[in-house]
Amino acid sequence: MKFITDSMLGHLTRWLRLIGHDVRYLKNCDDLELIEEAKKENRTLLTSDLDLYKRTKKEGIGSLFIEEKETAKMLAKVVARYNLSLDVNPAKSRCPKCGESLDPISKERIKNKIPPSTLKFHDHFWICLNEKCRKIYWYGSHWKKINKVLNRAKEIEIGLETNA
Ligand SMILES: [Zn+2]
Repeated sequence: MKFITDSMLGHLTRWLRLIGHDVRYLKNCDDLELIEEAKKENRTLLTSDLDLYKRTKKEGIGSLFIEEKETAKMLAKVVARYNLSLDVNPAKSRCPKCGESLDPISKERIKNKIPPSTLKFHDHFWICLNEKCRKIYWYGSHWKKINKVLNRAKEIEIGLETNA
């Protein structure tokens, strides 16, 4: 899906990109600009600002109010609302840092850019297609943490559905 997020939701932005969504994160932007961008690019606005949320409702813009503080809870709310998957598929993931798509890249082509120990223990790498970013990703030690948050979000989501 295509989202736009307000400045309070940087963390949620990165997670949604990781599970494959096109998220524009506008940091220094007022309400009017956020609304204009959401309209122009036909994006769903995620916001932690109740006034802004009410305003989008009046203007008929798709939006979701995020009052949760915990990342897993925020994620659970968004995926439950829009019926999204909480699984990570690197072929579909977007760069958490900038939001651009990722492409698989061979070890050979990045061997000077990452630590030798990483090269030794991992075989699959992805690179951000944004020329200004070019960040490289692999299933590293942080992967356990990522799965922990995603699993927690799944549990919450199931809870949300049974309560609804
Ligand atoms: Zn990037």
